[in-house]
This record gives sequence, C-alpha cells and structure tokens, in this order.
Amino acid sequence: MKEVRTRFAPSPTGYLHIGGLRTALYAYLYAKKNGGKFILRIEDTDRERYVPGSVEIIYSTLKDAGLIYDEGPDVGGDYGPYIQSERKNAYLEYAKQLVENGSAYYCFCTKERLEEIHEKGATKYDKHCASLSKEEVEMRLARGDSYVIRQNIPETGSTTYTDMVFGDITVDNKELEDNILIKSDGMPTYNFANVVDDHLMGINYVIRGVEYLSSTPKYNLLYDGLGWERPHYIHLQPIMRDATHKLSKRYGDASYEDFIKKGFLKEAIINYIALLGWSSKDNTEKFSLTELVDKFDLAGVSHSPSIFDEQKMKYINSLYVKEMSEDDFHNYALKFYGDYDYLKGLDLKFLSTLLHSRVEVFTDIGKLTEFLTQFDGYNTELFTNAKWKTDVAVAKAMLPGLIELTEQSFESLHDALIAYGENNGYKKGQVLWVYRIALTGAQSTPGGATEMAELLGKEESLRRLKESLIRL
Ligand code: GLU
Repeated sequence: MKEVRTRFAPSPTGYLHIGGLRTALYAYLYAKKNGGKFILRIEDTDRERYVPGSVEIIYSTLKDAGLIYDEGPDVGGDYGPYIQSERKNAYLEYAKQLVENGSAYYCFCTKERLEEIHEKGATKYDKHCASLSKEEVEMRLARGDSYVIRQNIPETGSTTYTDMVFGDITVDNKELEDNILIKSDGMPTYNFANVVDDHLMGINYVIRGVEYLSSTPKYNLLYDGLGWERPHYIHLQPIMRDATHKLSKRYGDASYEDFIKKGFLKEAIINYIALLGWSSKDNTEKFSLTELVDKFDLAGVSHSPSIFDEQKMKYINSLYVKEMSEDDFHNYALKFYGDYDYLKGLDLKFLSTLLHSRVEVFTDIGKLTEFLTQFDGYNTELFTNAKWKTDVAVAKAMLPGLIELTEQSFESLHDALIAYGENNGYKKGQVLWVYRIALTGAQSTPGGATEMAELLGKEESLRRLKESLIRL
C-alpha cells in the first residue's frame, strides 16, 4: 500500500482558529493512524488576505498542540517549497498542458465585459473565449494582451466521486463554472494551486472543510486533465457556535491562543476539538493525542455540524487539571498568579494546593481568590447560616475570643478553635463558619477556616478579624 500523506493547508489570515485546528488534527490523526506523513503547506496566494505574523502563529500553534508535521516550510522535506507563493513558477506549465489538451483555455475578457454579462443575468462565465481560434489566441498573446487561464468544464454530463465521509457525490457539469486557474498576474487561484500542490506533494488523502465538497468535482476534472491519480477525499462539517452561526473570529475567542490565555490546557483543547465532529465507538470522551491516533476512525466522523460548547470544554479541562501533579499544577498556575497583584507576598505554593481541586480552567484563579480584594466591602449577612445556626449576633459574641486565640495559638489554630467551641458551648461547624467569614468576608473560599488563616498569615488574619469585629 502507498504511504498515506495528508496535509493541512491554511491560508495565513490571522490566528489559528478552532475550526482550522480541528482540520489539522484530523489530518494529523489520519496520517499517524496509518503510519503516514502529515504535511503543512501555507496557501498564501491571496496576498490581500495575508496577515503578517500569522505563518509563525500557525507553526507555533501546531507544534505547541503536538501536531508535529513531518514536512513543512520551516522543517523542510522532499516536496518543497511548502509555501505556495514560492512555488508560483510551477503552476503555469501545468495550466499550459491543460490548454494543450482542451481542459483549459486562455481568456482575454475584460472586467467590463464580465460585468456586462453578469448585469444581463449570467450567473457564471459564458465560455466566450473557449471558442477563440488557436491563431487568434497566439496573436493576442504575442501582442501582450492581458489574460487569465480558465478551466474548460464540459457542458454536459456529470462528475462523480466518493467522499470517505459523505459517500458518492455527483455534480452536474452544468452547475460548475469555468473558474480561473491562472490570474492575470500569473499567480494561480486556490482552485488550481490546491490540485497541483496536492499532486506534486504526493498528497493522497485530502482532508478539509465541507465547503469544498461540491467544488471537488472541478478539481477531479483537473486531475483527469493532467493524467494524475485523484486523491481520496474526507470533508468535514463545520463547527458551529449555535444552530445558525459558524464558529468564527467574528464571534471572538475562537482561536487556540485565546483558549490557552483563558486557562485551558493544550491536551484538553486537543481532546475537546477531537470530539467536535468525531466520536469513538464506545463513546469515551477523554483521550490523549496518542490515544486519539489509536482510536480515530472515519466511521466516527460526523455527517452533521457540531456545536462548540465551552462548558463541555471546561469540564474536559478540569479532568486534565485534576490529573496534574501538585508541582505541575503550581508551575502552570504561576503564569496566572502574575495577573493579580494582590497575590504578591502570599505562599503561592500553598495557594496552589488549595486551588488545585477547585480550578476548572486556570482563569478561575481570579474568581477563587476574589476574597482577598473584596474583604473590605463584604456583607455581614454572610454570618447568617441556617445549618450552623449562626448570625451576626453569634459572630459578635464569638469574635473577641476568636481574636484572642488567634493571637495566642496561631501555630495550632485548628485545635484551638475546636477547644474554643467545646469550652463555650458552640458546635465545631459554628465556630469554623464564623471564623472563616470573619477572616475572608466570602461565602466560598478555596479552603477552610484554618487554611485561609494559614494563607493570610497571622498578622493579616488578626487585622481582618479585628476589622470584622468593628463592623458588627
Ligand atoms: N487554504 C484553504 C483554506 O484555508 C485550504 C483548503 C484545503 O484544505 O484544500 O480554506
């Protein structure tokens, strides 16, 4: 069997969005599953859409996410160059071959003429130049007339191919337009470059968005015209934000980098996006990249669009966070602690142990440590707790004693609090509730009363307890 070669062919138009990354992931998985090669090709022939810096983002995102490409612009390979604009001299020769055998033709129509036919109701190019005589074409080329090269689609019949997800796809040739293959500036269009590049790069499995499903017959006619073997196709349904909108940058934060900034782990991002359009036979949902390589199969690829669900992604992320070692969690959390000045001076290692079981995504750290900045304005109604039968009056009665024991027994605070309850006729839960609220002014905190005191330190704990007493 021939080696499987797949490719990811993004256009450098900005950040790598989740939809693009999913295409890359599936192309990677399919190649690796079959012991083949995964190739990166940059499709930058549309210079107007080019965004500086985006090629570097593509390289770094794929590498960071673990989608290591075997060949590509920055890693080389036997089929380079892997940047389309650097291949521009290759295309014309093939377009001319197509002209020779009637599969394409020179077109000299002016913009004005094209506008005119469209104004008269034409929905596609009217093949005007397909019937120019060879002599006329040669004369006009020699004279230096501006031209494009168009594909010559048969006017009758139909073209069929088998998509590995969607099955047989048949398109009537009359639905297809004689698209431009080579533009007047000599650059190929996507319609032509994807075919030439895929062939020259030995790509035999083309994996891409479903928007290309119905134009693929055109590409197949080009393969046929050039006498090349058609590749296999795997088209993927889009990822939606909701039932009617595609996930896109217009709706914000759909890029890999954004999710990393939001505190998602790369393993979780990859795991979650694998599930956006694919499910495993046994409906398992947690997969490492290596497990995905093993489990991925086309039978599990969905025929309908999938809906991006950030809550679900958070849940998947939380599974990975829980699995982290204490050290790994702490080291990762450090990047996020830096965003909050008020964490300076705290024992962050200890804070990490408190936060570990509560963090779903790392930006939760902000919410979970809010009590550190909101203490001054807290609502004393928080002392009211039906279960523990506490309220402001109970707190007021307890606080002087709690302050005293904090001064005297901070090192053995837990025992001191228990003893205080026993000696004064309070339940343990009552004492701990009052102490924790007086210390933090927050309904929920990343740890219990004594853990919060340990985090804040003796001095700050006393300051807060005294401040609470004044407020009551
Ligand atoms: N450059 C195209 C895109 O970004 C690639 C499509 C394909 O994979 O053939 O949509």
